[in-house]
Amino acid sequence: MPQLHESKQTGERRFCKWCNGFKPDRCHHCRVCKSCILRMDHHCPWIANCVGFRNHKYFFLLVFYALLTCGFIIWTMSASLYAVLFVEETPPMHRFLLVFGMTLTCIMTVLLFFFFVFHVRLMLVATTTIEFCEKRQKYPSKNAIGMPNYSQGLCKNLQAVLGPQPLLWLLPVSPPQGDGLTFLLSKKTSPPQPIGFLPGSDSAAAVPLPSLVPAEPEHYGLDERLLATEPERVAYTTNEPPVPTEDLNAPEVTGEKAAAA
Ligand SMILES: [Zn+2]
Ligand SMILES: [Zn+2]
Repeated sequence: MPQLHESKQTGERRFCKWCNGFKPDRCHHCRVCKSCILRMDHHCPWIANCVGFRNHKYFFLLVFYALLTCGFIIWTMSASLYAVLFVEETPPMHRFLLVFGMTLTCIMTVLLFFFFVFHVRLMLVATTTIEFCEKRQKYPSKNAIGMPNYSQGLCKNLQAVLGPQPLLWLLPVSPPQGDGLTFLLSKKTSPPQPIGFLPGSDSAAAVPLPSLVPAEPEHYGLDERLLATEPERVAYTTNEPPVPTEDLNAPEVTGEKAAAA
């Protein structure tokens, strides 16, 4: 029986009031998609879909190949641009279109480059965009205890997004293994110092520690459309007794929307 590591501040299991079902670890409800998304990363307005457990790889490859394409355009268009600007006499409209195209490409390249680096960094430490924002809001200190840490080492963290076979990492096949419902905690996880209630206690005996509990944000720091989730994930435990998970396989809970892309 899988063990859940995340719960509400009250000690209860995380529950989605919109889908009317319990949520597994790292699952969040997307207000735009109107569904719970397994290991949700963020809602992407560019693809009009959520990025989650089953399509994270395809989203990452989209960014990667878009960046490569921008580099290819700059590489192949620079000679033409140089020619119309400094060598040949060309109609003004042709010159304008080339300069305009190159400007757009350069802007996209810079944006995509930072976006790509950001996602590689998150992938290497087994963190989603939502978890990154939550950590920044709730645990400003780098050495904060009690932070959920799902890192399993560099290679396994990459495999958790790009799939088990490294030779297929850059191809849109070989999705990651696992069910998206349960995740292993890092062995380096800091000792259980639950934020919100005492270690090892069950939900009934949980004692809130108001001074340790950061205030719930109205929403995440980024654009609400980007992270259109329900901000209620709060507590983290490592040694609590296993929580019954008979509801985890209910279709309305798991939110298969992410599999669509
Ligand atoms: Zn939901
Ligand atoms: Zn969404």
